[in-house]
Amino acid sequence: MHEMAITLSVVDAVCEHAAGRRVHSVRVEVGALCAVVPDSMQFCFGLATEGTVAAGARLDVDVQPGRARCRTCGGEFGLSDLILLCPCGSADVDVLTGRDMRILSMEVS
Ligand SMILES: [Zn+2]
Repeated sequence: MHEMAITLSVVDAVCEHAAGRRVHSVRVEVGALCAVVPDSMQFCFGLATEGTVAAGARLDVDVQPGRARCRTCGGEFGLSDLILLCPCGSADVDVLTGRDMRILSMEVS
């Protein structure tokens, strides 16, 4: 499961940053092109945090639509999935955003 690998890296980073403090919630932003299913990620988060300082923490997942620029017509357009096609029909596009994943915030005590 693709989400498990991503979630494990999030949990690693969160636990490291928490430095022994208890983690109550984590908010992550994932680009639409990461093809992450938020529900699957929530489920993996529950498993991945077992036995860590983030056990029982809430995970919020914000999916950010991607953007790309077309090299053929110069237009910019939104990407909601992995189909990288400009409305003009060209597939010669630069992905600007949508492949990133980052931790936006976390609540610790
Ligand atoms: Zn185009």
